[in-house]
Amino acid sequence: MTLQEFLERIAEVEARAESLISSASSAAELEAARTSLVGRKSGALSALMKELPSLTPQDRPEAGARVNQVKVAVEDALDTRTLDVTGRQATGQSVDLTMPARRSWKGGKHPVTLVIEEIEEIFRELGFTIALGPEAETEWYNFGALNFPAEHPAMDLHDTLYLEDSVLLRTHTSPVQIRTLQNFKPPIRILAPGNVYRRDFFDASHAPVFAQIEGLSVDEGVSFVDLKATLTRFANRFFGTTRTRFRPSYFPFTEPSAEMDVECQICKGRGCATCKNTGWSEILGSGMVHPSVLEASGVDSERYTGWAFGMGPGRIAMQRFGIPDIRILYDSDMRFLEQLAE
Ligand SMILES: [Zn+2]
Repeated sequence: MTLQEFLERIAEVEARAESLISSASSAAELEAARTSLVGRKSGALSALMKELPSLTPQDRPEAGARVNQVKVAVEDALDTRTLDVTGRQATGQSVDLTMPARRSWKGGKHPVTLVIEEIEEIFRELGFTIALGPEAETEWYNFGALNFPAEHPAMDLHDTLYLEDSVLLRTHTSPVQIRTLQNFKPPIRILAPGNVYRRDFFDASHAPVFAQIEGLSVDEGVSFVDLKATLTRFANRFFGTTRTRFRPSYFPFTEPSAEMDVECQICKGRGCATCKNTGWSEILGSGMVHPSVLEASGVDSERYTGWAFGMGPGRIAMQRFGIPDIRILYDSDMRFLEQLAE
């Protein structure tokens, strides 16, 4: 055979391969094409390779290189077409190999997590340690030990999510106070962050599950002055020097009780929709721990006194970042989260 004849036969096989591969519409047809083109025994290209010795020694290198080149190209085309055909069978559509890859992205902390970490940092400097507790609690830890009267409306099924019998999803982080008082001797200074659950409608200012942070300080001679000084210090550290005020309030587990407001951070006290034109924003509830709570936890209320507070980091995040609707914090909308992620 002459080199010319050999190259013509390669060109014929190449043309046949092209039409066989492009017209194949199933994996089985492609497998048949693979056998007839590059199969070791009866493949057209393998047959051509066996003819190489009939060429002159000078012509063999060129002919060999050409037949190898076509073999690689045919195998590539077979692989690509097989992927395409099987992909179409699996997903009902063709695989678009030109689709750009997804760009890599870095995770960030959620605004509520950022606020919790900042609050923890400030209280750590004030000598508090972090305490955690279970989210499924008993009625006694969630209500009884905290001096809720037996028929308190908060225990009603409408407000509390019960799991079974007297086990419920905690409605506040206060059970952590009881567990701490039971297990450690005063002096105690703890900060208890965690999720709490209420049977609330999901609207602009309520969510059925939300983060809460509570603090507890118990020692001999602890007074309301310590409460006021510590919480004012916290507000000035967290919001920058700002006006604060305490208003009398009521909680079953503290006496006396007070709610703490800071100047609205959105309007700087001038009055806006978020603060309902009062110029103030409530950030926490607090008070002196009720003697019954200390006694229920086995702490001598004649010897020790204490104060406690609880706040919602979600609402504080709304103030800090000027967020008008609490649901934005739970939507997982990347366009919002990317603006605040660190
Ligand atoms: Zn305002």
